[in-house]
Amino acid sequence: VAAGSVVSRRTGVEVVAIGTELLLGDTLDTNGAWLGRRLAPLGIPVVRRTIVGDDAAAIQQAVSAALANTGIVVCSGGLGPTRDDVTKRTIAALYGRALRRDEIWLAELRRRYAARGAAMPVSNETQALVPEGAVFFANAHGTAPGLALEDERGITIMLPGVPHEFRGLNDDHVVAWLETRIEPRAGPVRSRLVRITGIPESAVGERVDDVIDAIAPLTIAFLPSFAGTDVRVTSWGEQSAAQADSALDQAEALIRARLGDHVYGVGQTDLAAVVGAELRARGFTVVAAESCTGGLIAKRLTDAAGASDYFTAGVVAYHNTAKLRLLGVRAATIEAYGAVSEAAVREMLDGARQSAAADCAIAVTGIAGPGGGTAEKPVGTVWIGAATPQHADLKQLHLRGDRTEIRERSAQAALDLLRRLLLRARSESGGPRPA
Ligand code: ATP
Ligand code: MG
Repeated sequence: VAAGSVVSRRTGVEVVAIGTELLLGDTLDTNGAWLGRRLAPLGIPVVRRTIVGDDAAAIQQAVSAALANTGIVVCSGGLGPTRDDVTKRTIAALYGRALRRDEIWLAELRRRYAARGAAMPVSNETQALVPEGAVFFANAHGTAPGLALEDERGITIMLPGVPHEFRGLNDDHVVAWLETRIEPRAGPVRSRLVRITGIPESAVGERVDDVIDAIAPLTIAFLPSFAGTDVRVTSWGEQSAAQADSALDQAEALIRARLGDHVYGVGQTDLAAVVGAELRARGFTVVAAESCTGGLIAKRLTDAAGASDYFTAGVVAYHNTAKLRLLGVRAATIEAYGAVSEAAVREMLDGARQSAAADCAIAVTGIAGPGGGTAEKPVGTVWIGAATPQHADLKQLHLRGDRTEIRERSAQAALDLLRRLLLRARSESGGPRPA
């Protein structure tokens, strides 16, 4: 490949993250993740990330494999002045290039040290060693320059691992340079996240199954978490931005048709923000009465700025005494049915609504574990409740998972219960359903 030639973009970019600390798990490869996010909108997908230690043989093997796969490799890390940083000489050797001293960069480094009134450590001179014929990217954020080598196997770019230097060099030089070296695609890589809750992952998969073929070449991914099972649709750049958006609109419509009320939004919106918007639209206020969720619901409802429009109070009534004193739950109810019961959650709901003079209420009482379970009420037994001026709904959950999961899932399910009651109130009043 002659200088100035273009590498096909179809195959995308490989990332090789170099650093023994990445293998030990002390540091996460956030550089690789950042580059994926940075390049996707440009229609340059990162197709694989490999992590290797500061080891010449491993680096050589990983970079060779990456070159064979796509012909464009971005390496992060191992450009430092210390003995353990071997990236530059290893990759120079892979390309059969000698290291030469770059007098201009050496002078620049000396100038920077002098400006701070310090002498440059001798070890830093290695940062001015540059492989013959390399493209040089000056580093305004640190001492190691970015370097690119190219031959008939493809391009290898080396960047320092320090995250702000890695990002800075990409933003200052590398991404723009890459774009000139890669065959343009029709459009950007674009995704839409359809947020879904209250239905198991397998059921989401079944309902959406036929959509997968209908929307090709767009692809679908299922992303389960405590919040539900989100569906991400991606257009991989075969189309212009406008075409991609309209294809994503169509895909979203198909998914909504299959999942109905289980869809609570698109993008990164939290369910609590959706509930908050619905409360505001109807002019309702809400109070949260929580036991095992320890304030998670109140926290999420107040994450949105302006939450005082609809959020009146959150009561964390953890101890039974607090349920009696603060929420008006009756001692006889707890004696007869226990604090985790339909009767208790109903009284929490009513008591909270009355004491806070709120239109709506949301309540949770359950056993988050790991202790406290019984044969009759094992860990994961949770009662949730929600009420609007028109309706109330109570529900028992049997959740699996650790303490954190049970708490998060309980909060999500309770918020969803209120969301559904608010939708019901809206449809009964003849108002439009939210988009
Ligand atoms: P320098 O130019 O500063 O010498 P370098 O290329 O030698 O940079 P490293 O020594 O490998 O960089 O790493 C410097 C710091 O950056 C370390 O704290 C390391 O944990 C962090 N780091 C390295 N690689 C990554 C990565 N892929 N993602 C996030 N952080 C990283
Ligand atoms: Mg390192």
